[in-house]
Amino acid sequence: MNHDVIVVGGSFAGLSAAMQLARARRDVLVVDAGLPRNRFADASHGFLGQDGKAPFDILREARRQLAAYPTVSFVEGEARDASQEGEGFAMALGDGRTLRSKRLVLATGVADQLPDIPGLKPRWGASVLHCPYCHGYEARDRRLGVLASGAMDLHKAQMIPDWGPTTLFSQGLAIDAETREKLAARGVAIEEVPVVELLGDEPKLCGARLADGRIVAIEAIFASPTVRMASPLAEQLGCALEDGPLGPLISVDDWKATSVPGVFAAGDAARANHNATLASADGVLAGVGAHRSLVFG
Ligand SMILES: Cc1cc2nc3c(=O)[nH]c(=O)nc-3n(C[C@H](O)[C@H](O)[C@H](O)COP(=O)(O)OP(=O)(O)OC[C@H]3O[C@@H](n4cnc5c(N)ncnc54)[C@H](O)[C@@H]3O)c2cc1C
Repeated sequence: MNHDVIVVGGSFAGLSAAMQLARARRDVLVVDAGLPRNRFADASHGFLGQDGKAPFDILREARRQLAAYPTVSFVEGEARDASQEGEGFAMALGDGRTLRSKRLVLATGVADQLPDIPGLKPRWGASVLHCPYCHGYEARDRRLGVLASGAMDLHKAQMIPDWGPTTLFSQGLAIDAETREKLAARGVAIEEVPVVELLGDEPKLCGARLADGRIVAIEAIFASPTVRMASPLAEQLGCALEDGPLGPLISVDDWKATSVPGVFAAGDAARANHNATLASADGVLAGVGAHRSLVFG
């Protein structure tokens, strides 16, 4: 067996898991393709002690601290195929090697599927935002939009006025009378004609062009992408998945154990609410969970 634990994904969840295992003096390998979900944003917010730092700076420092532990190693690249082998697991890497471990931690994150509106993708993480707690403060007092794609956005639209004057672009979503009243009470304008293009000097935003040709001035817009697993490893291993509000997620217990004994999962791939602090906390649980299972079986 090459390693006690292979952690796939070296971002907020994976590095946090590896840290616990390293401090338990276990041999842990982190395999990371280097594509954290928030890489499109210049700064990460709300992570205690790290507010406003660039995502890659946070991760670089975390990795530097982890590398100080003698039982940790890293592979930069992709884990392609995972399978059970005897009491443990075999992991085929993109560089052709196959490595083995007693336990696995999947911290592979999710991939965003953005609405197909011209001008939206190049502004993702800059003026097209997913979460007001992450980036709302930086957009405060600007003209804000909410691009509806489901009922959750009607809820979100009622929150956004705390950051700035808000227009809800309903995109064909039905809004009942009670919700209209609540939106009106919060001062939210409703625009029923669909947005067909986002405008302005990329990645800035100055307006949304509607299907009838009108332009509504906005400087940031909240969109809710659906998500898919960033990696097929959980499915390859036969881990049970469940439906989350935005897409599938890996089912885990309180210690982040999946339905497959010996496989743990943490972070966005295994939780409904996506946030770097929560992903990191899940990683701690998965790392401790994997360590406990090495000790107690
Ligand atoms: C635009 C944007 C901005 C955000 N801003 C904030 C913010 O300000 N504050 C906040 O708290 N949250 C923010 N988030 C949410 C935050 O990015 C996620 O909650 C967090 O990154 C989840 O961490 P994770 O470790 O689970 O997954 P990720 O950070 O997505 O990391 C997964 C890692 O696994 C690697 N990986 C995947 N598959 C494989 C494989 N097969 N082999 C090897 N490696 C693999 C990836 O390359 C990646 O490095 C933002 C999200 C987005 C989309």
